Order: sequence, then C-alpha cells, then structure tokens
Amino acid sequence: MSNNRSETLFASACEHIPGGVNSPVRAFRGVGGTPVFFSRAQGAYLFDADERCYIDYICSWGPAILGHAHPEVIREVQEAATLGLSFGAPTEIEVEMAATVRELMPSMDLVRMTSSGTEATMSAIRLARGFTGRDGLVKFEGCYHGHSDSLLVKAGSGALTLGVPSSAGVPASIAQHTITLPYNDLDAVRAYFRAHGDSVACIIVEPVAGNMNLIPPKPGFLQGLRKVCDEFGAVLIFDEVMTGFRVALGGAQALYGVKPDLTTLGKIIGGGMPVGAFGGRRDIMQCIAPLGPVYQAGTLSGNPIAMRAGLKTLSLLRQPGFHEQLSALTKMLCDGLEAAGKKAGVPIVTHQVGGMFGFFFSDSAPWSFDEVMHGDTERFKDFFHAMLAEGVYLAPSAFEAGFVSIAHTEADISNTIAAAERALMASRR
Ligand code: PMP
Repeated sequence: MSNNRSETLFASACEHIPGGVNSPVRAFRGVGGTPVFFSRAQGAYLFDADERCYIDYICSWGPAILGHAHPEVIREVQEAATLGLSFGAPTEIEVEMAATVRELMPSMDLVRMTSSGTEATMSAIRLARGFTGRDGLVKFEGCYHGHSDSLLVKAGSGALTLGVPSSAGVPASIAQHTITLPYNDLDAVRAYFRAHGDSVACIIVEPVAGNMNLIPPKPGFLQGLRKVCDEFGAVLIFDEVMTGFRVALGGAQALYGVKPDLTTLGKIIGGGMPVGAFGGRRDIMQCIAPLGPVYQAGTLSGNPIAMRAGLKTLSLLRQPGFHEQLSALTKMLCDGLEAAGKKAGVPIVTHQVGGMFGFFFSDSAPWSFDEVMHGDTERFKDFFHAMLAEGVYLAPSAFEAGFVSIAHTEADISNTIAAAERALMASRR
C-alpha cells in the first residue's frame, strides 16, 4: 500500500520530534511500518494525509464516543472560543460540569478538573497518601494510569508495547512504594494486605483493564477490592479515564455496583479537548488545597472551551438508549470478528464491555496479564496491516483496547467484518 505523504511526513517528524511522535504508541513500534498521518476526521472516519478514508476503532483512544467532529460539539467550541480561551479564574461552566459529573457518578461528592488523565491519577494518589498518611500504592500489572513516576512501574499501554513497563528515570526511592499485583487475583491482594495492609494508602485499578488489550474484571474482583480497602483503611481509586461514560453512563462503578472512594476521569469528559478530573468522598476531597494540606493546581484546569466541549458531549450521551445502541454495535463487531475467524479457520476470541472491545488470536479469552502476554503478536501484526490496507484503523498494538462510537453504522461494522474475513483468509495461506 502506498502511504506516500505519511512516509514523507514521518521522515520529517523524526528530524524534529523524538521518534517522530508525541506519544509512543503512535510510532507503530508494536506493529512495524510507517505511522499513518491524519489530516481530518468526521463521524466514524479518519482521513489520512493522502485523503484515504479509514473506519476508526481508536476514537482518539476513547474521547470520540459521539464520532469525530460532532457538529453540536464543534459549535460549542467555536462559540466558547469567541468569549476567550482561558481565564485562570472561576467560571460558571466549570460549576455546571462538576454538578453534571456528580449527577452521573454519585460516588463523587466533590470534583476537581485537571488537563489530562495523568494529572488526575497523579493527584488522586497524592491525595490518598495525604489523607491516610501512608506511602504504599497497590496497582495491577498491565494497567496504565498515565505517566507519573509512581505509576510507571510494570505499566501497560505504550510502556508495555515498547517493552519498558518500568520506566528509566523513576527513582528507586519512589518505585519502592509501588506494589504491583496480578489483575483479577483477589487472593494475591488479600495476601499482600494481610502482611502489609497498614502501610497501603490506596489501591488504584482500571475497573475494566483497557491497557493490556481488554480484560474485564472477574465476578467479585472489584467487590473484593472494596472489602479489602474497607478492612485496612486504604482508599479505593477507580481509574475510569477510559471506562467513564463509555462502559455505562455511570461508568464501571455503576455497571458493577461498586462504590470507589475516589474516581479519576479523562478522555470523554473533555469531548476531545485536553481534560481530566478526579473526585470522590467529601472527607477525602476536603484534604485538597485550598481546603486542606494536599497541594494540586493547574493553569488551564477547568478551561472554558474544554468544559463546553465536554458538557455537550455528556449531554448527548445521556440521551435514552445511547449506551444500549453503542453496546449493540460493539457486540455486532465482536460477534462478527469471531465468526470471521471461524470461517477462515483462525481462532479469534473477543471481550466486550459496553463500547470497548478486545480481540485475541487464541482459543479462549484471557483473564490475566500473563495470558495476554502469551497471545500471538505476530499474527496480530499481520492482521493489523491487512486491515489498514482495507481501510480499517485498529490500535497499532496487541496491548490496547478498541473503541466504537455512536457514529459507527451497522454498514461500517459489516464492512469491517468483511474486511477481517478477507484479511484472515489471506493470513491462512
Ligand atoms: N488512566 C487510564 C486508564 C488511561 O487509559 C490513560 C490514557 N490512556 C490515562 C490514565 C492517562 O491519561 P492521559 O493520556 O490523558 O494522560
């Protein structure tokens, strides 16, 4: 496939930007080849620098749940821009945003906005440490919570794709406080807490793991974490940067009926603009400055344009039937991929939670990091490139989740499944 303009642009990018990209997964290191450069997007489609169209299953890694460039969101952004880009002072719109988030996620008594998911998780952890007076942080292998020091220990997403799950540059004195346990293994959590529970400030977890492909929580896993935190006085943080407003209107906490102490948000809440948020129990959130001693701040936090884009997005996705339709489309895709695999004699299994999905070249779907790591990444690479040539843009790594938007039509999904069938048939030979 000729990718001329992307090749030229990538060569130029590599002159000016480390690895030619501003976030590592974009470099295609997980699949090889030249990253595609995009110039515009509309609905379910991305258009590359040569005006080639792709059905998009990344959706900007989640935010584009309404599809790209939704006209009502764009109108909000345009109107807001004429009123000033940033004030660094309070606005009415950020109050409306906080009230809306509280309504959709009732576990959040108070909400603070940030400019990225990384800031949200980093701040939530500092808060949990400040509140409990403890340093220990329990996370799970293959989960990704942004790129702050404490969280780049055995992390997922790009860190995993590039083979550097524990980043250089993180002082051992910081990493020593991060304890990484196997996802979906409640016994391991209980055992750790029995031995060291009184030193743990918090557990942070992706309630649906979307940074090592897609691994749903086993029944009882999240409930078990809640119980352990209650027993040992640790703060339970659900990182819903990816799952918030996507796996259900009220996020994974509504879907699985578990109330975390703190929640972190990002992606959808900004409607495609740079936004994150964290919030939760009033007594914990009251430890944040200016009310309490835990410092946290941001020049662009609560940015008025981002708030308008996010609020409009939330108002559109809370319409009745939205998540049912999104889930049905995603299920149609997953069922179709499995059927295409059967037809081609290539084993494919899928996981799906709401508008998120994962697929695996395997006979049985994985439920742990170790099982994901044993997947057939060579076959994934071939499949990825065959799909790209077919005009389907999947995540360029076997360790990322896929995303569907409400703008995807049944015809888009059918076309994707037909493309997958051709790609799999070809890969058999
Ligand atoms: N938490 C989770 C679960 C994520 O998936 C991500 C990003 N993919 C982050 C945190 C970090 O968010 P950001 O990239 O906006 O800093």
